[in-house]
Amino acid sequence: MKVVLQNLTKKFPSRNKKNPQDVIAVNDFTFEIPDGKLIGLLGPSGCGKSTTLNLISGLQSPTSGKIYFGEDDVTDLPPEHRGVGLVFQSYALYPHLTVRQNIMFPLQNLKGAQKLSKEQMAEKVLKAAGLVQIDELLDRKPNELSGGQQQRVAIARALVKTPRVLLLDEPLSNLDARLRLQTREEIRRIQKETRLTTIFVTHDQEEAMSISDMIVVMKDGVIQQIGKPQDVYDDPVNLFVAKFLGTPPINVFDGRVVRGHLMIGNDDILTVTNIPDQEVYVAIRPEGFILQDDGPLCCNLSNVEVMGRDVSIVSTHEKSLNVTIRSIIDADNPVDRESDTVRFAVKPHKVFLFGKTSEERIHFEV
Ligand code: ADP
Ligand code: MG
Repeated sequence: MKVVLQNLTKKFPSRNKKNPQDVIAVNDFTFEIPDGKLIGLLGPSGCGKSTTLNLISGLQSPTSGKIYFGEDDVTDLPPEHRGVGLVFQSYALYPHLTVRQNIMFPLQNLKGAQKLSKEQMAEKVLKAAGLVQIDELLDRKPNELSGGQQQRVAIARALVKTPRVLLLDEPLSNLDARLRLQTREEIRRIQKETRLTTIFVTHDQEEAMSISDMIVVMKDGVIQQIGKPQDVYDDPVNLFVAKFLGTPPINVFDGRVVRGHLMIGNDDILTVTNIPDQEVYVAIRPEGFILQDDGPLCCNLSNVEVMGRDVSIVSTHEKSLNVTIRSIIDADNPVDRESDTVRFAVKPHKVFLFGKTSEERIHFEV
């Protein structure tokens, strides 16, 4: 089921007397989620992710704009008639019901033609439980399960009515690191098996990048960029997106273009042919540095961290806006740890320039 958002906007009245302006939680969203794909909705806390999801599920109504599921306009349809499965950060299971009863719960309220027999319900529960691999836990109560198992129950409950769209709001945030990794792989597997159009909300860029077919990066209620995770990483449209994606984060410097030379302080790091003289932000991915004795970028060496396959060089530079610069270098390259300085050349395709005031990308040719 394809989902289309058209100029979707949600305003909340201000609660702050000193600042009576409305909060625009979702600001003029237009995009189409292709059928059967998993979309990661990504952005910092408060950027409007949950509000977007609530508008799609019908828990909240938009101030303006439209929502379509396939060709159906569902904008004014109540949540129970939209056919959405919802999973939240808090698993929201009923503690006094067994796993089986929890999963069955959404089926028991079906009325009229949709009403199911006991046997039909039992069959659907088994199928949903099988999908999330909790068949053996059906007679337990939620407090007899781990966090990861509880979240699987919540996912089974969301799947049991065979929704048209699956919506997940930070579903992994309450899990510890190992379970988070495992459960995100599970969600991907379930999504692929069911081919359900799925929207996965997270503030964790690594999580979104790892499981999404497409990510939507948001800031302050506004979509910044939509694309395949790798494409957005390789080609960010603005400084915010460049900084939001990637671990370790991208390294940002104050720089300037002078007669075709890209300068960071006194270091002449690249020749760029098509940019008029101006101040710029220079952002370099950690993997964009090349260790080179006569390299143009001279940094003060702080530390060398060996991470097996790679070496992470921690350094500083007076024009760096990050406290430390992190460069990831192949472990085969010898680093002189005794030296006070370290010199790098840069890989041009790992270097991005952004305007000083607009913070928009400036494309360059080398
Ligand atoms: P996220 O899920 O990305 O953290 P939310 O969608 O929860 O963000 O919130 C987006 C913005 O809308 C925030 O500034 C938040 O304070 C505001 N907001 C959310 N819900 C309400 C509400 N019911 N009333 C007023 N403001 C709200
Ligand atoms: Mg939220």
